[in-house]
Amino acid sequence: MTNRQLFLNHVGQTSEAPLALEIVRAEGCKLFEADGKEYIDLIGGISVCNVGHRHPKVIEAIKKQLDDYLHIMVYGELVQSPQVQYATLLTQYLPASLNSVFFTASGSEATEGAMKLAKRFQNRTQIISFKNSYHGSTQGALSVMGSEYWQQAFRPLLPDILQLNYNSVEELDNITERTACVIAETIQAEAGVLVPQNGWLKALRKKCDETGTLLVLDEIQCGFGRNGTLWAFEQFDVVPDILLLGKALGGGMPLGAFVANKKIMDSFTHDPVLGHINTFGGHPVCCAAGLAAFKVLLNEKLVEGVKKKEALFISLLHHFKIKAVRSRGLMMAVEFENFDLNKKVIDALIVANVFTDWFLFASNCLRIVPPLTISDEEITLACKKIITVLDAL
Ligand code: PMP
Repeated sequence: MTNRQLFLNHVGQTSEAPLALEIVRAEGCKLFEADGKEYIDLIGGISVCNVGHRHPKVIEAIKKQLDDYLHIMVYGELVQSPQVQYATLLTQYLPASLNSVFFTASGSEATEGAMKLAKRFQNRTQIISFKNSYHGSTQGALSVMGSEYWQQAFRPLLPDILQLNYNSVEELDNITERTACVIAETIQAEAGVLVPQNGWLKALRKKCDETGTLLVLDEIQCGFGRNGTLWAFEQFDVVPDILLLGKALGGGMPLGAFVANKKIMDSFTHDPVLGHINTFGGHPVCCAAGLAAFKVLLNEKLVEGVKKKEALFISLLHHFKIKAVRSRGLMMAVEFENFDLNKKVIDALIVANVFTDWFLFASNCLRIVPPLTISDEEITLACKKIITVLDAL
């Protein structure tokens, strides 16, 4: 049997039509199959590989950590240098109030931890989230997901959750003294790159301040330079009480985190002790990889190149079948009439050596979230292929 057949038979599946390509190597902005066929990767593992696949500095850091230790103890008990170094550097690049990093093993778990922290610290129960938001697939994270379609089969979910419309100022009045936290993506990714409008995030911050509610911003997908600043919230002049990180945080290894003020975070240490615990959060190899990737992002000034690369994409993506291109930095949604056309484009692009997909809540939009290291030549070639494919369809 081929590996593809074994994959379909023995690896738990998430859809009836997985892409099921077998990639044997990845480097920079390229993916390779066994027969040597190569793809320009326009999605970088869905916003994970911001410094490209297998950046030499990341590989070096992983190899060094392999020689020191792998897992030695559950999270939180031992001083592990990769965790300490990474948490310290991250907090140096965050507002002073965000000075304590709790490492998890995934983005969903960062959401779970943050919701628990808000309930515990506030001694309140209500959590508010927004339509078309995605914060993860575990039951707590699913409870705040903004889509009945993905929630209904799994009810009952968490109680006391309220969903509002993103960008609606009027609906912010639903935030009250009983709200533990409001959780929002700074830029809604799976909605097809939905950007907060005209001071909406500031109004949200203000309402949270007035009611003593914690503001949780999810930058699992939009953090680490994706939107043209290191953190997306910098563009909207707000600072969250809790920041969710994941995806690019691990430099290609599994890692998540929620970041808060130490005063808030310390409420996990008592009543009950061990308020949130895990075995693998902040795994030393993942932290070593993430730390190296973060240094690459800073040292190679990758964030500074994002806006120019976005502009190049936009200048090349003109076709009468493209209804709109919504973007913020290198997070771009190319909108088509419907899912059918989008799917045809995606399939044809795979044949034409370009790898991409669509968005969860915007299935008519092609996803472009490449490594921030993508070159002008790769952008030009990928866009040329998109236009050629559209001409042929
Ligand atoms: N929040 C956002 C905004 C995400 O995009 C994702 C992952 N797509 C998550 C949370 C969940 O992260 P993970 O898949 O690592 O659990």
